[in-house]
Amino acid sequence: MNLILLGAPGAGKGTQGGLLTERLGLHRLSTGDLLREAVRRGTPLGEQAKTYMTAGELVPDAVILGLVREIMEGRGSGGPGGVVFDGFPRTLAQAEALETLLSDLGQRLDAVILVDVPDEVLVRRISGRRTCSGCGRVYNVFYDPPADEGVCDACGGTLEERKDDAEETVRRRLTVYREQTAPLVDHYERGETPFFRVDGDRDPEAVHDAIVNALHA
Ligand code: AMP
Repeated sequence: MNLILLGAPGAGKGTQGGLLTERLGLHRLSTGDLLREAVRRGTPLGEQAKTYMTAGELVPDAVILGLVREIMEGRGSGGPGGVVFDGFPRTLAQAEALETLLSDLGQRLDAVILVDVPDEVLVRRISGRRTCSGCGRVYNVFYDPPADEGVCDACGGTLEERKDDAEETVRRRLTVYREQTAPLVDHYERGETPFFRVDGDRDPEAVHDAIVNALHA
C-alpha cells in the first residue's frame, strides 16, 4: 500500500507517518528528513538544499524528484508494505512525477490522507517543537515538554530547535504551503485515488485511529 500524507507544516505528518510505519509495516519516506540528513552530512545534495530550507522555500522539483526516484528504484518492486510519503509531493509537478514514477515501477497510489489543522494551532505547534539531537524524539514545549527543560527523557540528549522552525521562517513555510502545496488537495479530491480528510487537531493517537479507520473503510 502506497499512501501520501498531505498537510501543512506542523500538521503532524511526521508523527502520523511514524505511527503508520509501526502499525502497517510501511516504509516512511520523508523528503524533509532526507534533506536534513544530507545537510548534516554536508553532501552535494545538502549543499544544494540548505539555502532553500533555511529560508522556508521549497527545494527545486528536479532535486526532490531525483532523490525520490533513487529511493523508490532502490526498493525495486517495493515488496510487501509499501511507502508512506511524508512531505512529498508538495507541488503539482511533483504529484504528476510521482504518478509516472509509480507506474514505471508497476505500482500505484492507494490513498491520500489530508491531516487538517487550523493555522493558529500550526504556528504554536511548530514554534514549540524541539528534537533530541541524540535519538530524534520530538517534543513540544507547550504540549509535550520533557521532564527537564532541554533534555530528552528517553536518552538524556540535548533538545534542539530546527533552524527552519524560527517564527519568521514558519510564517513563510505556511505561505509557501498555501500557494504551492494546498492546490494538491483539490487535485487529489477530484482524482480517482481514495482521498480522506482527517481532523488533525486532536491527540496523535486519535488522529492515527481516524486514519486507520478511513483506510479500512
Ligand atoms: P519538512 O520536514 O517536510 O517540513 O521539510 C522541511 C523543508 O525541506 C521544507 O520547508 C522544504 O524547504 C524542504 N522540502 C521537504 N520536502 C520537500 C518537497 N517535497 N519539495 C520541496 N521542498 C521540500
